Amino acid sequence: MTAAELMEAAREARRLSYSPYSHFAVGAALECADGSVYLGANIENASYPATNCAERTAFFRAIADGKREFRAIAVSGGTGANEQSCPPCGVCRQVMREFCKPGFAVFFSDGEGGFETFTLDELLPCSFGPEHL
Ligand SMILES: [Zn+2]
Repeated sequence: MTAAELMEAAREARRLSYSPYSHFAVGAALECADGSVYLGANIENASYPATNCAERTAFFRAIADGKREFRAIAVSGGTGANEQSCPPCGVCRQVMREFCKPGFAVFFSDGEGGFETFTLDELLPCSFGPEHL
């Protein structure tokens, strides 16, 4: 799947968002090494800290399904129909770090109709991972 195709899947996944408090709907599309794609959306909670991000929803769905190797993730977010810049939060970057290689590709909406491209290592330099334990 191309980066643009994965981004489109993330944009479609925004419709799965449960975000009655912030109205900031986020969708994610995670491509596994075997080519399968898992969608995720942010899931808010009346107890705000219990909220889960779209990226982690996608990862946890895939991991619970037995997947352990991943190629890339795309993330799209924004309020209502507007797509805004939506880089992954620090918690999600750390979850990616648990399962992904430094070159894992991360695409996220840039707020101008396109997307930005980073590697996990660029987004989370000098990070703590499984090899440190
Ligand atoms: Zn997050």
